[in-house]
Amino acid sequence: MEKLLQEAQSLLQIRLTPRQVALLKRYEEELLEWNTRMNLTAIRDVAGIRIKHFLDSFTCSLAWRDRPPESLIDIGTGAGFPGIPLKILYPTMRLTLVDSIGKKVEFCRHIVETLGLENVEVIQARAEELGQNRVYREHFEWAVARAVAQMNVLAEYLLPLVRVGGAALAQKGESAPAEAHASENAIRLLGGRLRQLVPVTLPGVAEERFLIIIDKIAATPQNYPRRVGVPARNPLR
Ligand code: SAM
Repeated sequence: MEKLLQEAQSLLQIRLTPRQVALLKRYEEELLEWNTRMNLTAIRDVAGIRIKHFLDSFTCSLAWRDRPPESLIDIGTGAGFPGIPLKILYPTMRLTLVDSIGKKVEFCRHIVETLGLENVEVIQARAEELGQNRVYREHFEWAVARAVAQMNVLAEYLLPLVRVGGAALAQKGESAPAEAHASENAIRLLGGRLRQLVPVTLPGVAEERFLIIIDKIAATPQNYPRRVGVPARNPLR
């Protein structure tokens, strides 16, 4: 964990406490163990987990600096990324983890329970369903996603869940500038405005990465998100 501690500090000015390190270690053990039984994540080695999962999740903090979200929804969280490492980093943040696949949701529930994380809700659902559910629609300060869909599709998943004045954050690879440009119209339609692309470099990872940050400046029209599967089949242009 020493390398992760150093990188978190030098890259992100994050100083992890011994308790946070212990929680990450436990999470890592559970990931490695569950991965032997089911296909949870493609990254299965310890160094990969620490840099490509934990540190990469922590890079979201570049969007927040000293003001992390009060409430965050992580759409398509898979085995809990970036939501669970961020909850370890910001213990008072209210977190909602969403995935459509039962075994991933089961793993996330297991981790939340094993690590004793409070104020975390884990939901098996499609983003399109939650976006039309009165309890979740325009409810969150921030919505985040990593490796879930193209930006124009993702905007339709994320922006309906964010309250006006909040923001959406997409963790993306080198296609981010082109994707952001191609999604400008979709973002506007959904009540968003592109704020910023933040370049992120991970140690030992050649591909340049970006955070795409989108402000929610107006209510999302009621007809979005469209029915389950429609945003991906027929993306907004
Ligand atoms: N965010 C995690 C990460 O970066 O490690 C998982 C990424 S995985 C490639 C994409 C995940 O998004 C899958 O677990 C999939 O089930 C979920 N997903 C895709 N579309 C979704 C949707 N419309 N609603 C909810 N989950 C979705």
